[in-house]
Amino acid sequence: MTYSVILAFAPLTRIGTVMQVFVKMLPVGMLLTNCYVVGQVETREAILIDPGTNRETEAKKILREIESNGFKIRYIVLTHGHPDHTGGNKIFEETTGAPILIHEYDAPMLKGPFADRTLNDGDSVQVGGIVLRVLHTPGHSRGSISLVGNDLVFTGDTLFAGSIGRYDLSGGSLEEIKSSLKKLMMLPDRMKVYPGHGPTSTIGEEKRSNPFLQNFSWV
Ligand SMILES: [Zn+2]
Ligand SMILES: [Zn+2]
Repeated sequence: MTYSVILAFAPLTRIGTVMQVFVKMLPVGMLLTNCYVVGQVETREAILIDPGTNRETEAKKILREIESNGFKIRYIVLTHGHPDHTGGNKIFEETTGAPILIHEYDAPMLKGPFADRTLNDGDSVQVGGIVLRVLHTPGHSRGSISLVGNDLVFTGDTLFAGSIGRYDLSGGSLEEIKSSLKKLMMLPDRMKVYPGHGPTSTIGEEKRSNPFLQNFSWV
């Protein structure tokens, strides 16, 4: 099945057999981490990606977004184990009752609540007709993943618009992030990129203008 990404709050219309996907970006915390609500419009089921805030006011903002759109969160998926992406685990596990999913290599980084299910390359997370495939993209951390849908990809802290994630932190690796970025560059140009920080982009735009992807000779 194909699906299109719609703008949050856009009028909902069904066109042919195209499934509508709701994607809302909510920057949270001191590092302005992008938390995402990804929902299927018809079934009102959703995935919460990187709930990186334990501040009550920000958590409430996210919960309002979920509730006002009538979504039921089925999964909390973490692109990696850093606190700016996982800080809201407790609040959101308690309020939504959804299980926490993270790559097995980053699962030990969680201080509790712990992972309910660990992910590996090739796994998928599905709500209704939305299928996000797990692409293991280590280098920023050992268990960093990207989540690949039909025409969108959530890249966590591996790839940003015009930049890439740090590879000098614990568990990071220059060689690994290079090969992860090469994997991402094999995705279709039209694919929309939803990074862990900063604005969205597309794979094609990053191939054209991201200085780290022009050649892999940096460092
Ligand atoms: Zn990170
Ligand atoms: Zn981050």
